[in-house]
Amino acid sequence: MSAPHNLANTLQKFDLGNGKQGQFYSLPALEKAGIGPISKLPVSIRIVLESVLRNCDGLKVQEANVKELANWKPTEERTAEIPFVVARIVLQDFTGVPLLVDLAAMRSAVAKMGKNPKIIEPLVPVDLVVDHSVQVDFAGTSDSMARNLDLEFSRNRERYQFLKWGMQAFDTFKVVPPGIGIVHQVNLEYLAKGVLSSQDPQSQTQDAIYYPDTLIGTDSHTTMINGIGIVGWGVGGIEAEAGMLGQPVYFLTPDVVGVHMTGALREGVTATDLALTVTQMLRKAKVVGKFVEFYGPGATALPVVDRATIANMAPEYGATMGFFPIDAECVNYLKATGRSDEAVKAYENYYKAQGLWGIPKKGDIAYSQELELDLASVVPSVAGPKRPQDRIELPKMKQEFTAAFSKPVTENGFGMKVEELTRTVHISAGGEFHPGGGSQLGNANGKVRRSEGEMAAEHPAPDPIHGDAAHIEGDVRNGSVLIAAITSCTNTSNPSVMLAAGLVAKKAVEKGMTVNSTVKSSLAPGSRVVTDYLNKTGLSPYLDKLGFQTVGYGCTTCIGNSGPLHPAIEDAIVKNNLVAASVLSGNRNFEARVHQNIKANFLMSPPLVVAFALAGRVDIDMSVEPIGKDKSGADVFLKDLWPTLREVRDLMQAALQPDVFRKLYQDFAGQNPKWNEIPSSTGNVYEWDRKSTYIQEPPFFEGFSMTPGSIKPITGARALGIFSDSVTTDHISPAGSFKKTTPAGKYLIENGVAVEDFNSYGSRRGNDRVMTRGTFANVRIKNLMVPGVEGGVTKFQPDGEQMSIYDASIKYQAQKTPLVILAGQEYGTGSSRDWAAKGTNLLGVKAVVAQSFERIHRSNLVGMGVLPLQFKEGASAQTLKLDGTETYDIVGLDANIKPQQDLTLKITRKDGSVENVAVRCRIDTPIEIDYYQHGGILPYVLRQLVAKA
Ligand code: SF4
Repeated sequence: MSAPHNLANTLQKFDLGNGKQGQFYSLPALEKAGIGPISKLPVSIRIVLESVLRNCDGLKVQEANVKELANWKPTEERTAEIPFVVARIVLQDFTGVPLLVDLAAMRSAVAKMGKNPKIIEPLVPVDLVVDHSVQVDFAGTSDSMARNLDLEFSRNRERYQFLKWGMQAFDTFKVVPPGIGIVHQVNLEYLAKGVLSSQDPQSQTQDAIYYPDTLIGTDSHTTMINGIGIVGWGVGGIEAEAGMLGQPVYFLTPDVVGVHMTGALREGVTATDLALTVTQMLRKAKVVGKFVEFYGPGATALPVVDRATIANMAPEYGATMGFFPIDAECVNYLKATGRSDEAVKAYENYYKAQGLWGIPKKGDIAYSQELELDLASVVPSVAGPKRPQDRIELPKMKQEFTAAFSKPVTENGFGMKVEELTRTVHISAGGEFHPGGGSQLGNANGKVRRSEGEMAAEHPAPDPIHGDAAHIEGDVRNGSVLIAAITSCTNTSNPSVMLAAGLVAKKAVEKGMTVNSTVKSSLAPGSRVVTDYLNKTGLSPYLDKLGFQTVGYGCTTCIGNSGPLHPAIEDAIVKNNLVAASVLSGNRNFEARVHQNIKANFLMSPPLVVAFALAGRVDIDMSVEPIGKDKSGADVFLKDLWPTLREVRDLMQAALQPDVFRKLYQDFAGQNPKWNEIPSSTGNVYEWDRKSTYIQEPPFFEGFSMTPGSIKPITGARALGIFSDSVTTDHISPAGSFKKTTPAGKYLIENGVAVEDFNSYGSRRGNDRVMTRGTFANVRIKNLMVPGVEGGVTKFQPDGEQMSIYDASIKYQAQKTPLVILAGQEYGTGSSRDWAAKGTNLLGVKAVVAQSFERIHRSNLVGMGVLPLQFKEGASAQTLKLDGTETYDIVGLDANIKPQQDLTLKITRKDGSVENVAVRCRIDTPIEIDYYQHGGILPYVLRQLVAKA
């Protein structure tokens, strides 16, 4: 490492607050040197600028990059790309395991070339939190969590062994084991430092250099950390790998949208209501690809946990970040969560020295676009039934569900006949149901209700053995709530809404109310701190009584791991084509995400989840209709259960206890015997087990050579799929469970895996054979080449034979026929998912032509060597009347290609007629051209590292 530079005399000192000094790259000094009007820039831009300045080495980061960003203008054409070197990286296990597989594959490739495999090593700290694998197989009993954890470990043993290999093979790779919490909440409560420091190894006598905590994460909701003034966002695993291996994250200089917040939330309104309101408002404002910065007195008055809930949903409003600047409230949060006084003081002094302290006021900063939000205007809300931005004011819920029931599917409705709305099925079923791993005993949907007597006991008696006492009895109809989940870091990190849920449960139980046995309710906190404060405040037993027993510390229903419903219920839904509902405190509700057979999914605050579980239906106007009856038979309304702001505030003290955070966030291994029992292999190069169905060496480096290929036209391509708008990454690469009749299911059966051991696509991401077969395999995806059919099927051309997308791809690849995908607006929206791009590549798709792309997915496609092309305004597969019988050439693609240049899509129809259509090449930046030429980021980085070794 070379000595630190001192560009424009910016390497300065500041007081650490402990009698010592630290060094830092001073933004005020940069401004003083006349480089740009830095103190007028949005705070988020200034934090990125610090990284550009500090990492300016004349190679990857140039002085010109510093000048360019220091002179950011609110509005101008954005052509410059920013090389952003982040301070650290966070991963969750679904995306982290495949990333580790790629690193291991790179090491294998390097070893095969006779070089030292240790040249592949993360250069910044990497923390992986295992949170995505736990499923809600058991719910509603006191031992649900232990049983779910048992199943999780038995299902994922191979993956966890592999993670343990990674921990010993890479120096800077750490793992937070299962059962601890959800990545973004763990990041907020523990991993985030706010400010980091590094000692220049060549001058041990010098003071350490301090710099802002910045990060990228392989999960869209990494933005939650923006709530505490940390710059960071979600990227695909492919970009994260490049970031780990020393590549800056490149992104186009963004517009920054300022949201001026005034006023305060009114009584009865939660942070979740605010987050849903912000989501709807910013979706309308079209903030895709932009930074959003919240400021003004309303923002200043919000506690960090509320800011984090809003920041979490940045992917839902489409922004790269939803950023709150740094202020005293951040200091309070860091202290309350057990960070040391010394670290917090250094944090405060650092941002003060940088001129980055305090939330700006109106007029301090000129934003690209300015929006106003009076917090007092926010009302209780939910969002759904299919998209997070479709906010519904609570009193309009009944009317909206009823309207959506018969609205056409193209208008986000369910396309049902009005007269079917009241269809009702009575269910009465026993508890012989065995969910999950077969050997485990389960009850009817894993739920057992406990008696009042048990509630009275200080330590309630253990639940009856599963299967003995459970009985499902009740009516299931359109609009019935069948899943009620307090889930998702969006809300579980926010004690105010979690305590409110507990208070609603308490009042309901005290009135003698119960939740019907047809509702599968669950509570999955994002950290063990939540359990601690729910216990201390005495609220846990009330949540338990209503079935909201803790089922695990992880993503659960939020990621679609809602587990099975009782077969009798599944049967009733499928046979009667019922539009049943889930209510959850998550951030996404795309089709088939929550549960494959639950069509209407509503996002809402945790206390509303409890209320809807009690009501048992979504077609209810809670402002005038009772949600149940008390023990005397009198009606109970929502207002009778809803806690006041004061009631919640009175309990908040219990939630933020520094000692509790310190105790729970230490010695993870010691607190986790199951994790300790997992054996680990050793060595720098992974010994691939060809028999494993979880971890396989991917083919990305097969035949790797030091010479990249060349960019040339694509000719004679066939369409593998034609899709309409809003195809999500979950449509492209689903994360949930799959059936034995699917290509992935057949593959696993051929390899000796029993159906009950299939696990989910998400957990199989270390095996490209499963994942390629699962690409475009979402049960709800609609390929317009096969009208009226749902699922991953296509027509193999020219004869038009219908078959699975995977089978067609194999046939096309055997013929060496390149493939294209045609799509509508917002292609690849949803979670960042590198397998959506990797699977596309491995199916032989060379180009995706869409009307518009989601930011991360577009860059992931380029990162995997797949060409993204964009139709010009007004053109689409529909206007061009494409049905998949055509062949396609991409003309103009050659070594001289420039970012965003126009190319020609030549369409040759079945009758021989030809149409040339202009399309924009969505390789957006010069570095992406390099990536594309090299066949993707990974071969590009590997060639660089091997060349240097
Ligand atoms: S809880 Fe939901 S939003 Fe949070 S990390 Fe898990 S899947 Fe993502």
